[in-house]
Amino acid sequence: MPDTFESTTILSGSHEHWRNRLPPAKESWPQSVKIAHQQISTNQSITVEQGLNLFDEPNLHAIGELAHNIKTARFDQNVFFNSNVHINQTNICTLACRFCAFRRGRRAEDAYALTIENYLEELDKYAQSVDEVHSVGALHPDWDVEYYTELFKSVKQQHPKIHIKALTAVEVKHIAKLSKLDVRSLLNQLKKAGLGSLPGGGAEILDDEVRENICKGKETTAEYLEIHRIAHELEIPTNCTMLFGTIESSLHRVKHLFHLRDLQANTNGFQCFVPYPFLPDDSRLPDAQLATGNEILRTIAISRIILDNIPHIKAYRMNIGDSLSELALQYGADDVDGIVQQEQIMHLAGSNTNLQSSLADLAKIVVNAGGIPVRRNSTYTKFELFDTNPVTSRNLPRVRTLKVIQ
Ligand code: SF4
Repeated sequence: MPDTFESTTILSGSHEHWRNRLPPAKESWPQSVKIAHQQISTNQSITVEQGLNLFDEPNLHAIGELAHNIKTARFDQNVFFNSNVHINQTNICTLACRFCAFRRGRRAEDAYALTIENYLEELDKYAQSVDEVHSVGALHPDWDVEYYTELFKSVKQQHPKIHIKALTAVEVKHIAKLSKLDVRSLLNQLKKAGLGSLPGGGAEILDDEVRENICKGKETTAEYLEIHRIAHELEIPTNCTMLFGTIESSLHRVKHLFHLRDLQANTNGFQCFVPYPFLPDDSRLPDAQLATGNEILRTIAISRIILDNIPHIKAYRMNIGDSLSELALQYGADDVDGIVQQEQIMHLAGSNTNLQSSLADLAKIVVNAGGIPVRRNSTYTKFELFDTNPVTSRNLPRVRTLKVIQ
């Protein structure tokens, strides 16, 4: 993929002096949004109180406008996506998080664990059209560093150009423990075997009381951050996530974003933040507050405003669907998840997002949102303007010919 515009790993396609490119605040904006604009344009970060005021602000549209202005100051109308496939290597898990529809006990009828051969067979089906494999899975009771080293080496041997984005922080912790290794040594070994980046899943809400309730036994807040810190120190870029709409308050969300912003200020290793709402069904987490469309767009927009040092904010279409993703691209998101092809975690939780998308389908989401589709590599260091010739814009309502009744 050729470089078609200047970039550095740190800026990831962003304008270096984006704060200076920010348009002035609008007279019609409410005070909370004007204050946020003032902070951002004068190179100051949003405070906890200011973040909470944004969550309480009735004028969602103004929050979205500020977020979109920040996004365009950084990236103009460009919106990024890549060509990837998700492979979830196993659903057999030693934990039982309350929100999880994916995990199975070892003896469940539909429990599965892909052998390396199975995994490669799956990947082979898509290898000609993707440049990234995104793999997260459950905490298999037996798979230690041997399995994953072998897996990553085999993928690289067969498909040297495919980037491996794999393992959440809790998987890293689990594999390290099973292998009697510290996290640094484990990540070092996995990097040598071919691991390219971490997808950042499993952050849920970075508050230990909330975690104790919804995902007891998972890594603590400090452990999540430490695992990502170590990855960044080893020059393994990572994404970071937030699962919202369970039992958390606005304060929990704001503090979550602050944890990520603080770590980023030290390491600069986060590439992209991926916020997604809890998808409900009748059996899991009946006490979840659930997130409305307003809350989803609001959270994405506020993430863009608070996370002023993390370049990319993703509209995670596997979770929020294509229609809301289109809107999210006007509320601060600049990145949309790839072609995906297969995915289990969100789909078992109730997502019905189309899995058989093509790059042209992704480009259409971008064009419909008024953006310019740009294909990127996994580490946001190479970009290619996507040829929109075959991409038709949104389906416009039909023009009706009215019969004039005499
Ligand atoms: S969220 Fe992950 S760790 Fe928790 S039960 Fe599901 S698969 Fe296991």
